[in-house]
Amino acid sequence: MANLRRYARNMERGGISLDVQEKLITSKVLVMGAGGLGSGVIMNLAAFGVGQIKIIDDDIVEEGNLNSQFIHKYKNIGRAKVMSAKDWIQDFNPDIKVELDKIKLNELNYFNVIQGYDIIVDCFDSYESKYMLNEIALRHKKILIHGGIQASCGQVTTIVPDKTGCLACVLQKPKTFVEEKYATFSPIVNTISALQSQEVLKVLTGMGEPLLNKLLIFDGMNSSFKTMEYSKNMLCEECGENRF
Ligand SMILES: [Zn+2]
Repeated sequence: MANLRRYARNMERGGISLDVQEKLITSKVLVMGAGGLGSGVIMNLAAFGVGQIKIIDDDIVEEGNLNSQFIHKYKNIGRAKVMSAKDWIQDFNPDIKVELDKIKLNELNYFNVIQGYDIIVDCFDSYESKYMLNEIALRHKKILIHGGIQASCGQVTTIVPDKTGCLACVLQKPKTFVEEKYATFSPIVNTISALQSQEVLKVLTGMGEPLLNKLLIFDGMNSSFKTMEYSKNMLCEECGENRF
């Protein structure tokens, strides 16, 4: 049994009950990507007490990642990001069970990856992989917590199959387009990954209102948040009526 003392502050006034904390400890969350967003999400999940975390990433740690991917230490340059992230979790919270796969998710290997996980956090850094993940999550009715960043702006939404619109409904981008490489700033990455983690917390505990059919947009340079409402597009190629 996990050590409940470390979660005592979760259960003080305004927090969660012991039963809900125990539910968190038996929860499983799949984190797709162990880069910037993945770093923050993994650290937050490990802190508030998700009992099992699975991490998917095929990259190795490079020096240029260290401006925003703070789960990876300098000494881990050259190691697989999944191993580096696992090291951090085990140092921080040895009660957490960690599963990992150093693979690039694709249509052939995804099935085993998602087995047993009902909540997926999208921490990928390309829209090509985000769209693929959106399709997979819809197909298998997994809750998808999307986060994305573009330089000093970022966004978060929670997609529930058959209940909300999907990533394609909200972003309305073509499936394939030329992706530009944007700057990444650590405070923006931290903010968006924290908001994604908060969505996981809401979904798992039933507290508050997840961002369903709502895209929360953060502009770091203006310090502003705005919420854009969206809905399922019946003509959406991914979740609309004619998707098959
Ligand atoms: Zn859709």
